[in-house]
Amino acid sequence: MTSKSDAAWVAAGRCALKTRDASLDGRLWYGVVTTGVYCRISCPSPAPKPEHLRFFSAPSAALAAGFRACKRCRPDDLVPLPPYLERAMDALVKGVSPTQTAARLGIAPATLSRAFQRWLGFTPKQLELFAKTDRFKARLLDGQGVLGAALDAGFNDDKALYRSASAYVGMRPGAFGDDLLLGFGLAAVPLGWLLVLTSASGLVFAGLGETPGEVMADAVRRYPNARLAPLDERTGDALQALSAQLAGAPWQALPIDVAGTGFRLRVWQALREIAPGQTLTYAELAARLQSPKAARAIGSACAANPVCLSIPCHRVLPKSGGQGGYFWRPWRKAYLLSLESGSSE
Ligand SMILES: [Zn+2]
Repeated sequence: MTSKSDAAWVAAGRCALKTRDASLDGRLWYGVVTTGVYCRISCPSPAPKPEHLRFFSAPSAALAAGFRACKRCRPDDLVPLPPYLERAMDALVKGVSPTQTAARLGIAPATLSRAFQRWLGFTPKQLELFAKTDRFKARLLDGQGVLGAALDAGFNDDKALYRSASAYVGMRPGAFGDDLLLGFGLAAVPLGWLLVLTSASGLVFAGLGETPGEVMADAVRRYPNARLAPLDERTGDALQALSAQLAGAPWQALPIDVAGTGFRLRVWQALREIAPGQTLTYAELAARLQSPKAARAIGSACAANPVCLSIPCHRVLPKSGGQGGYFWRPWRKAYLLSLESGSSE
């Protein structure tokens, strides 16, 4: 791999490998030098030793380096894609329904769905929703209101909007007021997709997700009344700063503008005082807040944290050992902790 964020991808891959998280399947592959075999991240084979690992951004790169495909996880099944599936993907992305797409190809919708799952790991329906969400995002970036953008993107009647959008994008038509205008920015990072929302005072939301739709659903669930504005300079700067930190740039606490109960705000402020590379247990944080019995409440304040990284809830660990939970998935917490400890593991 030759991209700038190689180290970040490798670290993300190592963390994802620990839980066999399939989020990186199709984007990252690993080879084991002792066996000469390469695998998908989700391969159920025993975990190799870190020093025996090599990471690749494509099966072809693994093959070029002399590795052969694992017979268990079939990492090369993802490529090359049969031409009819390429055509199907093209149609779905352009807004053709899964049923119509199957009809155009002269096959049953269930057959198309099975082929999708085998080759790509997702269904035509999921791709259709992903593409809709992508169009939705593009219209928001053009400055269109949320409801109009959703309708234009193909959530084409009230019922469909209620069904699809509330399940997938997490929003309720008609639930949008004009009370909150937030800058909106989205970027692909080694941990998936990073979405930020900003007000004039600072970060309102920063979240991570596997797809733009997943992280958008989280944002809209938390701020159902927000109007989203096109990317402005302030939001662009915040997005860039957080992306850089995720790729290893020194951590800095960006200005935040978050709402919560008094106790949660105190917890979030205390989290910002834990330096990078350091961790506290929930009980230690409770003692620091002079609320020794509040370890559990601190846990829920961490889970409700709306701003990843700048409110570093990943720096709190359970007293019993291990790294504990993380709203944006435990493997991402492991990645952040290893990034900050400066270790290459
Ligand atoms: Zn394998």
